Amino acid sequence: MDIRRTYSLNKRQAKAGRTVYWMSRDQRAKDNWALIYAAELAKAADSAFAVVFCLAQGFPNGNSYHYRFMINGLKETAEELEALNIPFYLLIGRPQEEIPKFVKYHKIDTLVCDFMPLKVPMAWREEVAAALDIPVIEVDAHNVVPCRIASDKQEYAARTIRPKIHRLLGEFLTEFPQMNRQEAVFSESVQAPDWKRAETLYPYDGLFPVIAGAKAGTETLNEFTGEKLPFYNEKRNNPNFDAQSMMSPYFHFGHIAPQRAALNVLAADAPDADKDAYIEELIVRRELSDNYCLYNPYYDSIDGADSWALKTLDEHRDDRRDYVYSYEQFELVETHDTLWNAAQNQIRLTGRMHGYMRMYWAKKILEWTADPETAFRYALLLNDTYALDGRDPNGYVGVAWSVAGVHDRAWTERPVYGKIRYMNRNGCRSKFDVAGYIDRIDEIKNGGG
Ligand SMILES: Cc1cc2nc3c(=O)[nH]c(=O)nc-3n(C[C@H](O)[C@H](O)[C@H](O)COP(=O)(O)OP(=O)(O)OC[C@H]3O[C@@H](n4cnc5c(N)ncnc54)[C@H](O)[C@@H]3O)c2cc1C
Repeated sequence: MDIRRTYSLNKRQAKAGRTVYWMSRDQRAKDNWALIYAAELAKAADSAFAVVFCLAQGFPNGNSYHYRFMINGLKETAEELEALNIPFYLLIGRPQEEIPKFVKYHKIDTLVCDFMPLKVPMAWREEVAAALDIPVIEVDAHNVVPCRIASDKQEYAARTIRPKIHRLLGEFLTEFPQMNRQEAVFSESVQAPDWKRAETLYPYDGLFPVIAGAKAGTETLNEFTGEKLPFYNEKRNNPNFDAQSMMSPYFHFGHIAPQRAALNVLAADAPDADKDAYIEELIVRRELSDNYCLYNPYYDSIDGADSWALKTLDEHRDDRRDYVYSYEQFELVETHDTLWNAAQNQIRLTGRMHGYMRMYWAKKILEWTADPETAFRYALLLNDTYALDGRDPNGYVGVAWSVAGVHDRAWTERPVYGKIRYMNRNGCRSKFDVAGYIDRIDEIKNGGG
């Protein structure tokens, strides 16, 4: 594996020997650079390795749908690992305590973990690294071009990170090696994961079937590359047209590697314009989000925005709002706008909102709250609570782009928004059949669709 994917979290050099991969963001057995690296370290010393996952309780804004999606995906991952004679351990509790205990008990030489630039999981990794006197090596198994290698600073916009990523794509967008069956024995007795306990801790009370895991993710990807990709460039911004890949939950939980999606898209039989448009979203835009969260300590609030945006929002702080809604009114779909309500119903009822509607939806929250700070909080909380792909760097950046102009530029000044890009219902009408979208979501609401 390309060693540039690795980063030592406690300044110790990786050591060949007994290795554990603490799986967290990239919950899959295939196409996983962190797993591949753990296997390499163990093999280099004729030793064994294992995978451990720690189910943390009380992750901010996690709902029962998120947990069940994750647990179902992990069950499949555990089975795939077992078939390769790679033990999978499920721990339940605080990772900062459980992981060091596990590592010490099993006399591990190197701990490998994956990369996630959000505060809570980063703090876990840092605490674990500080608690151990063995190397703790992070591997960026999520980005095609490792985030720390693509850039060492916060990028201003897609146009500044794009050339940096494209310059390195040839080196990093490579086929994955196949994982071989492990011959060495990690432990004579491996405790089977207690899935019952995990499911009891997180009972599912959701409305929809949970279709998680690498198999479902692969089917979704195949359907996209086989059928929808030729429409992607032209139709992806039409909420009435099924042209998006629907892959974001599988990427968020790591069931499918974005790199696998990129390889399959590039190999597909589709026009270059569609492939290029997808690669732009999948790699450039998604990796720009990781860049923002890694290098901007205020990514989770409006304070992360550029000074021009903060200034303009402040200048319009006292502008009269035509409507001001509480969090509950937004959540319970009680606005005056049937288009906004349809988008909110879509996310509540399906765990997903079309990408174009997400922009309109968040911008209207800016327009209909007392101040931009509240708008940011409401939009983020609603997104993270209801979207299956929520609590992701893309969500922070999506909200920051909509409400605070992050990665965007100044537009014509107007009330409330200042110079933040504006969107309205008429603009939507010129792009797609608004009434058709509302009708379709109403059908879902009424038990159809
Ligand atoms: C207010 C708001 C909130 C958002 N919240 C989230 C979120 O919580 N999680 C999330 O994954 N995305 C979020 N997005 C970005 C985008 O809307 C979704 O990634 C996309 O709609 C997911 O559907 P898909 O997988 O079918 O996308 P496709 O169009 O098929 O795109 C493929 C992949 O490219 C990436 N991608 C696409 N659009 C963007 C974008 N604008 N920015 C960064 N990456 C992108 C995603 O990984 C996506 O899965 C948000 C956008 C906005 C405006």
